[in-house]
Amino acid sequence: MVKVARTVVVRSQPLPRKVFLILCELIAMYRNMVEQLVIHAIENDVRSFVKLKASRYSYLRELYPSLPSHYAYTACQDASIRVKSFHKLKRMGRTDRRYPSVNKISVWLDDHLWRMDGLTSIRIATHRGWIRVELEPNKLYWKYVNRGWRIASEAKLKLDRKSRRIEIILVFKKDVEVYKPRGYISVDVNENSIAVLVDGIVYIFETGLKDITLGYYYRRKSVQEKYDKIYGPGSRIEKRVMGKLRERGKKRDIRFKIANIVVGIAREKQYAIIMENLGKEPAKRMLNRIKDPQLRHRIYQSSLKGTQKTIALEAEENGVPTLYGNPRGTSSECPIHRAKIVYGNGSRIGVCSVGGEKWHREVVGTLNLLLRVVGGDGSAALSLRPQPVDGSPMPLGSTATHEPTWIARETWVRWKSLEAILNYPLGTNG
Ligand SMILES: [Zn+2]
Repeated sequence: MVKVARTVVVRSQPLPRKVFLILCELIAMYRNMVEQLVIHAIENDVRSFVKLKASRYSYLRELYPSLPSHYAYTACQDASIRVKSFHKLKRMGRTDRRYPSVNKISVWLDDHLWRMDGLTSIRIATHRGWIRVELEPNKLYWKYVNRGWRIASEAKLKLDRKSRRIEIILVFKKDVEVYKPRGYISVDVNENSIAVLVDGIVYIFETGLKDITLGYYYRRKSVQEKYDKIYGPGSRIEKRVMGKLRERGKKRDIRFKIANIVVGIAREKQYAIIMENLGKEPAKRMLNRIKDPQLRHRIYQSSLKGTQKTIALEAEENGVPTLYGNPRGTSSECPIHRAKIVYGNGSRIGVCSVGGEKWHREVVGTLNLLLRVVGGDGSAALSLRPQPVDGSPMPLGSTATHEPTWIARETWVRWKSLEAILNYPLGTNG
């Protein structure tokens, strides 16, 4: 059993004026408490929450008698965490301030200070009694609610003065049973696709994530050039012009969907998922071809790690075990002969320098990843099931490339499981 927790931020609806003012006052008092506590803790070298609370609790209660007492308690928790990380920064020589700065405030709430009121509103304890706030739940919130996760009693509250809303930072919790794997699927995340090796067949799911990034990048570039001409070089483009959020949302959607499919495959078969250990510098090799440093940075940042992380989180939530293997050179070594595979210029298909058989880059990549993690002499390569386009079996050997099954985004995005995707041409129309 593994305890899994996920943080979800939910906005409220715009607050009525009265409620807004009460919350402004509440946050001002809370901020003042935290500021005083932090200064007190530094000046008196109080390093633990228990000691901080012992020395300041009654003072805080007298300072704001109308405030529910638990705010004094959570303010001490908040302050002691701030003080702890401040000491750490000091030790590393990363700050020369005297006190930790208390700029951003989110009010820590415990089970005495808030509660859910149905599924779309909450109640908050304030110096003016309990107030009710209507929420605007988002997709993620409903996902966890519908999957039966429970909402933890600790939460945080932030105020957005501009839009007159609060943000409530919720923690969803669940105990997940992780199964013992009966087999493995290995997953290779690429810029524009994800290759998955399942029972000897490699499926390549087109994601187009790089194209979305690129499309956005070039659109931005051309808009910037126009702006430079009209307003002078380096003029700032307004966010809404570029629809940046739409790009992000689209990517997130694709990632969630593909992660669901990959995790679904593993879960149904009770397999573990094997992925590349991307480390701190994911897949630099893929970026070498891209000249523009800014663009390289964007892709580097966005696509690969993000997609892999989404799969890993989804796996964790569903009790699917994950394993990681060294990605180095996975697609350049023949799994049968342990010899170099030579790829022609830009080709996805290479030739083994010893056996002369043909290999598809993605097939080799996923297979070698599997072998590295699970171990083996390469005989698994012989059980690869070649999937030629016309569906007829293909013998291993001189002409076989173990052609992977390519699945376009338009096809898989409409379905929730591999089986449904593969039955698509015969199945009912979605
Ligand atoms: Zn070979």
